[in-house]
Amino acid sequence: MKRVVVIGSGPGGSSCAALLQSRGLEVTLLEQNEFLGGKCSTREENGFKVDTGIHMFATGVSGPHGQVARELGVPQPWLSRDPSESMWLNEKGIWYLYQKLHSPAAIREVVMANITGRQEFDALNTLKRSVSNFGLRGLMHELHGIRKALPWFIEKYDRVTTSEFLHLFTDDVIIHRAMNCLSMLLLVVPSTRSSAGEFISVFSEIFRYGTLGVPRGGAIGVPRSFMRAFRRDGGNLVMGVAATKILVDGGRVTGVLGSDGVEYPAEVVISNAGLKQTVDMAGPENFPGEYVDYVKGLELSYSWMASKLFIKGRGLDLKAPSFFPIPQVEPERIFEYCDEPGGLPADPFLFCPIPTDWDPTLAPPGHQLILVGVPTSNEVDQEERSQKMLDIAEEKFFGFFPDVRDKVVARSRITNKDTNRITRKGTGECIGLAQIPGQTGVDKPHPKMPVEGLWAVGCDAGARGVGTEQGTASGMLVASLVS
Ligand SMILES: Cc1cc2nc3c(=O)[nH]c(=O)nc-3n(C[C@H](O)[C@H](O)[C@H](O)COP(=O)(O)OP(=O)(O)OC[C@H]3O[C@@H](n4cnc5c(N)ncnc54)[C@H](O)[C@@H]3O)c2cc1C
Repeated sequence: MKRVVVIGSGPGGSSCAALLQSRGLEVTLLEQNEFLGGKCSTREENGFKVDTGIHMFATGVSGPHGQVARELGVPQPWLSRDPSESMWLNEKGIWYLYQKLHSPAAIREVVMANITGRQEFDALNTLKRSVSNFGLRGLMHELHGIRKALPWFIEKYDRVTTSEFLHLFTDDVIIHRAMNCLSMLLLVVPSTRSSAGEFISVFSEIFRYGTLGVPRGGAIGVPRSFMRAFRRDGGNLVMGVAATKILVDGGRVTGVLGSDGVEYPAEVVISNAGLKQTVDMAGPENFPGEYVDYVKGLELSYSWMASKLFIKGRGLDLKAPSFFPIPQVEPERIFEYCDEPGGLPADPFLFCPIPTDWDPTLAPPGHQLILVGVPTSNEVDQEERSQKMLDIAEEKFFGFFPDVRDKVVARSRITNKDTNRITRKGTGECIGLAQIPGQTGVDKPHPKMPVEGLWAVGCDAGARGVGTEQGTASGMLVASLVS
């Protein structure tokens, strides 16, 4: 029987390990932390269950997490809300996003146009017409339908940035602002850098399924359900042990050396540690020189930090369990501060989910949890700047909702330093590889690495999608290729 070592229990590693074990392979999973899930995890704080990130799951039960849980035959309960988001566009007020763009509630708000053309020219014309007739909502409706109507459209625009793509048919400032913010929210890269194909792909998936949601009990619910199957099927889970070296002999892997000094023999090694770290662990001398250079040149995503506000009673009563105000800034300059040394946002884009409005069991009875998230670069060594950014973010949030300030009974913050504490990569990126032209979609690195028996899994290899879902989609792909 093939022996497999999986390094890391993020969504990619845990889904892949569980699928392979269920298909009859002999799998050992090494996780360096004492907790499961990597950046998709949950811990207890002040009696609340708090995710390590700012979690919301784009396609929930219908997406890769739900698909893997169903194949493994394990429960993975999901919670959904409709409308799911409230977006503050400008002084005209809040705009609600419904799970299905064509739900009766959404349709009541505006009549929409449909893509009928099969040619690119028609598609761009239709986009132009919809945007000029129905503004942002017209665009969102068309992007949602485009994947189904014109499947080739996504690959065609993989190598174009989202903002270049939008400029093909509109210069509308409100649309460019909103799309830049959605790009930062979904791909954690501004629209001036993100891949349009990837953006259209993830955006249309969300509204195709209409099941954006959260796992009951917090983000940990996803890797925990996979690991339940893994243990049931006899998998060997080793917690608190890091892989320090991937053993290679004669051009093929032979196993992994753990930080416990034990050698774990394997014919197949699957690494969820990131492509760059995997090349380092296996030894660059074991790869073709051009592959080492290619991996060195790959760029990582930006990041998010958050203030977590623990509230007594109810601080916020919104129709949707999240709030995001769009900055009143020139569209393509919204995230410029991220790349400036010491840069701070005058008017930051915020993402404020209210996890307890999805799942009240995350808080003690009569309490609410509100997150105030703000985007940043992926550097770790900028703690003072991070704290200042979060001060600015909180002030902006309290500007919208002044009554909440007095109801905060405790607060905590996560910054890139905390994300790095989980991954130990020396960087604080949210996702993994940045979903930018040249390294996503048609150009995404293949999970098979050029050493026999060595595979990458997770957000650095093989799949499309939003954050955790991209990780699990990669887990499904690698499991099918290996098994
Ligand atoms: C602040 C923040 C907010 C986010 N919000 C969302 C969101 O709302 N929705 C969403 O879908 N995604 C979100 N994400 C992104 C999401 O968490 C990641 O994209 C996803 O977890 C990446 O999955 P992965 O499988 O690639 O690996 P990771 O989650 O990075 O896991 C990698 C695992 O490998 C382990 N590992 C690494 N090296 C070793 C080693 N040498 N030995 C043993 N183990 C090792 C790590 O400990 C870790 O467990 C957020 C991330 C952050 C940081």
